[in-house]
Amino acid sequence: MKISRVAVWQKTLPLAKPYWLSGGRQKFEALDTTFVRLETDDGLSGWGEGCPWGHTYLPAFGGGIRAAMDILAPTLLGRDPRHIEALNRTMDVALPGHFYAKAPLDMALWDLLGQSAGLPLHAFFGGAEGEAVALNSSIPTGTPEEMAALIEAARAAGYRTHSAKVGGTEPAQDIARIEAIEAARQADEFVTYDVNRAWTPALAVEVMNAVTARGWFEQPCETLDQCTQVRRLTRQPIMLDECLQSFQDHLDAWKAGACEGVKVKPNRVGGLTKAKRVRDFGISVGWRMHIEDVGGTVLADTAALHLALSTPVENRLASWLCHPHLADDPMAGQGARNEGGFAKLPDAPGVGVKPGLDWLGEPAAVYE
Ligand code: MG
Repeated sequence: MKISRVAVWQKTLPLAKPYWLSGGRQKFEALDTTFVRLETDDGLSGWGEGCPWGHTYLPAFGGGIRAAMDILAPTLLGRDPRHIEALNRTMDVALPGHFYAKAPLDMALWDLLGQSAGLPLHAFFGGAEGEAVALNSSIPTGTPEEMAALIEAARAAGYRTHSAKVGGTEPAQDIARIEAIEAARQADEFVTYDVNRAWTPALAVEVMNAVTARGWFEQPCETLDQCTQVRRLTRQPIMLDECLQSFQDHLDAWKAGACEGVKVKPNRVGGLTKAKRVRDFGISVGWRMHIEDVGGTVLADTAALHLALSTPVENRLASWLCHPHLADDPMAGQGARNEGGFAKLPDAPGVGVKPGLDWLGEPAAVYE
């Protein structure tokens, strides 16, 4: 089996509501996503998606993925798509770094491997652990009352884990937000307070030591060293996200004792292959992990949730889905979807989601 053609599409995905990141620093109204289809000489098609969460959240943007395709896609032509590790090494030699740009191609390779073997992706990632993946809500920064009301609505939709975005410059406001959420939190609910790098170490230590919350605090500060400093001066478990990209970053975080858990997002770390490597390391050192993608349609969501489903329950926290935040649902009925706070994975071979060619329209680029 050989890869004979790579097609690339750009789509703009309007959000159902504008999204304010922690502290109201960044507003997103649409996501720029890239789809790739790898076609083989025996008629299979593997799908991948790469969708940064806006262009200011991480050092990643949609145009960067498509520019990198000129270098990456030709290196895959004529190669056996089932040799995924070898092809990742080829891409890493052709274009060092640029992890996010490789993620959609890597996803499409896994989709082809699954289709060629007749197995869903979670079978390759270790096998299903349980029937479904617990989901978490995402609660944007607002007043304490607004955030508590959004959590109540999420609770009604079945979510028992919530990711609440905090991280203003005024500690009293963050303390009020967190205490309002804690006051309404039910005994079987978990809340992760996601700061998205917004605090200085001094602010983080002040807020975290003032609040009653014992839940997770995520990415309190910009850098690994700053978060490690906060780790030493606070009592709540810390989860790291944006400051970890390479495998070495994860190793450094573990060596520093900086966190008790990490977010594993295939698009941030360079695809499912590299995400699996981080996930397996996380299992071996006892981390708890949120496993989900950075953004995108139900295609990207479902690929990441195959990795979540195959992670031991004691090592995984809930997963977030991006596609319910989009104004449109171009792959309606397919993939991993919220059913009362849980998502089941398709049993179909590969990722189990296929975008429609009518919706995609003309490709932005074709390599053959
Ligand atoms: Mg986060």
